[in-house]
Amino acid sequence: MDDNAWLERVARINQHRGGGERAPHKPLLILYALGRLQRERSSKVAFSEAEKPLGELLIDAGRDPKPQYPFYRLQSDGLWVVEMRDGEEPSESVAALRNGAVGQFTPEFEAALLESPSLIANIARLLLDREFPETLHEDILSAVGLSLNDVVVTLERVAELRRRRDPMFRKRVLYAYEETCAFCGFDGLLERVAVGLEAAHIRWWAYEGPDDVANGVCLCSLHHKLFDRGVMTVNEENRIAVSGHFRGATEASKRFVGDLNGQEVRAPQLGQPRIADEHSAWHRDQVFRAPERVAG
Ligand SMILES: [Zn+2]
Repeated sequence: MDDNAWLERVARINQHRGGGERAPHKPLLILYALGRLQRERSSKVAFSEAEKPLGELLIDAGRDPKPQYPFYRLQSDGLWVVEMRDGEEPSESVAALRNGAVGQFTPEFEAALLESPSLIANIARLLLDREFPETLHEDILSAVGLSLNDVVVTLERVAELRRRRDPMFRKRVLYAYEETCAFCGFDGLLERVAVGLEAAHIRWWAYEGPDDVANGVCLCSLHHKLFDRGVMTVNEENRIAVSGHFRGATEASKRFVGDLNGQEVRAPQLGQPRIADEHSAWHRDQVFRAPERVAG
């Protein structure tokens, strides 16, 4: 199999994303194993060793920490093998896996990856793109210890597998919100050009979120990041909700996050669509770290 064929296989992993439900489990295991492979020239890892870091990656991604599922189930995609300890039946039970089970990319896949550093980078890019908004890519790469900086080659197939993005999305969203953060009102300019302002997708582009103004909001860089990490969301009444899990002790944290809880989201200028509730509902359900902080 050549590099494009491996990419194709990674792109086809079975993920249960029905109804827009986020399922980052297998992509995170692959990224974690790619990080090991890049550092140690082998992806081989005991479940007992992978359990904690993989669980933390899932928590950071806002999912239940059940690393046993991807660790066992990625086998069905033909990219990963698990060897149970002698005498243990193949099983995704945590107890059985903790008792000496070892996972690794299949020998053919591992050989292809070792031969082609650019394949590692292209697979990582493909998975990040398909699963997460760009604001989170660097955090995830650093968490799995994967460096893509020295590899710039992009396979044609990666470009083909990526859904086309609308290059005008940012411009249209910034225009609609008059280049002002809809959460805090920041409207910085540098030489008349908006600075530190971004167009956030409400429903992630990676999960079929359309490049429409009704699925976008203009946010400053800080609020974009906090929104994509689920620290903040937009509630049914178009007000900002802050996660009860967020902590920040200083006056600045209070001003930029805590004090915004319950405040109305700034509306776009006249004639421009507000955030559609179907999209903010997805964000509340799939990204926001419930529960909402109680105001007061
Ligand atoms: Zn802001």
